[in-house]
Amino acid sequence: MTSAEKSELFTFLTTAEGWISGYRITLPGPEFTDSPEPAAGFDSINAVADAVRACTACRLCETKNLAVPGEGPENLSGVTVMVIGEGPGADEDESGRPFVGKAGQLLDKMLASIGLSRTTNCFIANIVKCRPPQNREPAPDESAACMHFLQAQIALVKPTIILAVGRTAAQNLLGTTDGINKLRGRFFDFGGIPLLPTFHPSALLRDETLKRPAWEDLKLFRAELDRISGPQA
Ligand code: URA
Repeated sequence: MTSAEKSELFTFLTTAEGWISGYRITLPGPEFTDSPEPAAGFDSINAVADAVRACTACRLCETKNLAVPGEGPENLSGVTVMVIGEGPGADEDESGRPFVGKAGQLLDKMLASIGLSRTTNCFIANIVKCRPPQNREPAPDESAACMHFLQAQIALVKPTIILAVGRTAAQNLLGTTDGINKLRGRFFDFGGIPLLPTFHPSALLRDETLKRPAWEDLKLFRAELDRISGPQA
């Protein structure tokens, strides 16, 4: 369902509720986004990874060392959380694994602080799967060329909730140019999945003062996950 269709449905339902109750209801609608595409021909997360490694759809494949499809536990049935970053850096490009450098080690600690781990209940992915040269921000056409892989991963993992780390991930997923300070700390609807933008761990490494608000975001994220699936998830 597109964001426009969802807004239309929301308006229809609130109007109908007004007719039934006899009150005129004028609620500001939530911010809707388009629903993720179905898994587009991929029948497993490993099939997506194979296609990522073989991909030549944009220029990033020419300069990368290894593509970085994403990572989670072998058995996806216990995965409730998807963490989405921007794109591989030097360490990820060397190893073919997401978030393994300094920022990745901090991300693992952040996740552990709220009972989450890439070995049990989290799948970690990026907007682009190949390292942009000099760690520059992915260009819009590069992100667009890669987005179907992420959509397939989301459709296959079926996360209960999504954590978007950093401005680039949040902007690409939500289709906005708003900055991370405006986006972080509140939930958005991503195709029926609650999505919370927060700071990228590398921003926390650069600026200690962001650690406190990032921790507030993580607590909010955990509370919403507990509310949806119970404290065990
Ligand atoms: N930064 C990201 O956004 N993703 C990674 O995988 C590593 C660093």
